[in-house]
Amino acid sequence: MGKTIAIYPGSFDPVTRGHMDIIERASKTVDHLIVGVLVNSAKSPLFTVEERVALLKQVTAQYPNVEIRSFDGLLVDFARASGAHILIRGLRAVTDFEYELQMAQTNRVLAPDVDTVFLTTTLEYAYVSSTIMKEVARFGGDLSSFAPPEIIQALCKKMQEEKEKNKENIL
Ligand code: ADP
Repeated sequence: MGKTIAIYPGSFDPVTRGHMDIIERASKTVDHLIVGVLVNSAKSPLFTVEERVALLKQVTAQYPNVEIRSFDGLLVDFARASGAHILIRGLRAVTDFEYELQMAQTNRVLAPDVDTVFLTTTLEYAYVSSTIMKEVARFGGDLSSFAPPEIIQALCKKMQEEKEKNKENIL
């Protein structure tokens, strides 16, 4: 039998403990896990794709079968090009479900040989999202439960840079 290769796609802007939990668990169930960082996110990301990839690499260095790569375009095309037949997604709450179901069904129509597997979030991280983490960071809140120290440091630095930029624009 060939190796099981899976892709865990997302924006990861930046990576959170919730993402890391899914990465750790998924990496135990497949031979090779590719974390796919979306280049052209509709969400106009705070971090560049290079920065998001670098941060993910830092916090997943301990997993030998996890690889971080960026991708653009259709996820199923990236999956095919990578030899992956499994897509991993995390489900936090019912609110995630409708969108995730629609996406999984769309991908299945586009690529019948690629299946989506959902991992439900660990309760401890159910409330964690990159968006909420950025909100808390913007107002100087405690971020230790959202992400490891190296990510928090990068986020605080980025927020500071954004503030300086905004100041220049106002002046
Ligand atoms: P997207 O921009 O596609 O929503 P994200 O970077 O926000 O991507 O998330 C990527 C994947 O990680 C999604 O499947 C999302 O449901 C999952 N995810 C995000 N946060 C958590 C969490 N706290 N627990 C479990 N899964 C999560």
